[in-house]
Amino acid sequence: MVARQLRERGIRSERVLGAMETVPRHLFVPSERVPEAYSDEALPVGEGQTISQPYVVAASAEALALEGHERVLEVGAGTGYQAAVLSLLAREVIAVETIPSLAESARERLTRLGYSNVRVEQGDGSEGLAGEAPFDAILVSAAAPAVPQPLIDQLAEGGRLVIPVGLTDRQQLLRIVKEGNRTTEQKLFPCRFVPLVGRFGWR
Ligand code: SAH
Repeated sequence: MVARQLRERGIRSERVLGAMETVPRHLFVPSERVPEAYSDEALPVGEGQTISQPYVVAASAEALALEGHERVLEVGAGTGYQAAVLSLLAREVIAVETIPSLAESARERLTRLGYSNVRVEQGDGSEGLAGEAPFDAILVSAAAPAVPQPLIDQLAEGGRLVIPVGLTDRQQLLRIVKEGNRTTEQKLFPCRFVPLVGRFGWR
């Protein structure tokens, strides 16, 4: 997975490649999906949701440019896989998940596997998590109709937001950097995530 799907396709960060090599993806997918755990695709994980393709997990993590000292928010914890990868790259990760059963199983799994610097909160992450802001980096793992303003507001100075924005069936992965009162925006690549729901998502 790391050699063919990540390194060969341009993931450069040795820290990201190392984290992708370390996190046991097969322990994050449903038992009937274990044989496909390292294949080059997103996989269904129940409740109509998916675990993202390995390349997308790595590319999003790389775009956050983490050095190890950051507080990170993930919106859309799902299985907790992306949060586990981020936890090896940052100081602290808070992952919000709207579906209670997924939040509970992600929390249980991350604790069992020893990811002690990740916390899973159940709730609407489209509003961010104002009580815990500011964040050095925010990753949204579900497709938004537009960039939610609260997420920009909750970024620290110099903070990075990576978010898929577009229609429900196709989006562009955006990287937004907050610099003073302005933001700069860069399109990374086309992608397809499950919809972000909630106040700033699709209703
Ligand atoms: N990062 C996950 C996969 C994300 S799938 C992993 O590694 O497994 C997208 C997730 O976003 C789904 O679990 C979905 O329930 C969740 N989601 C959608 N809208 C949300 C919202 N407003 N707040 C929090 N989670 C949300």
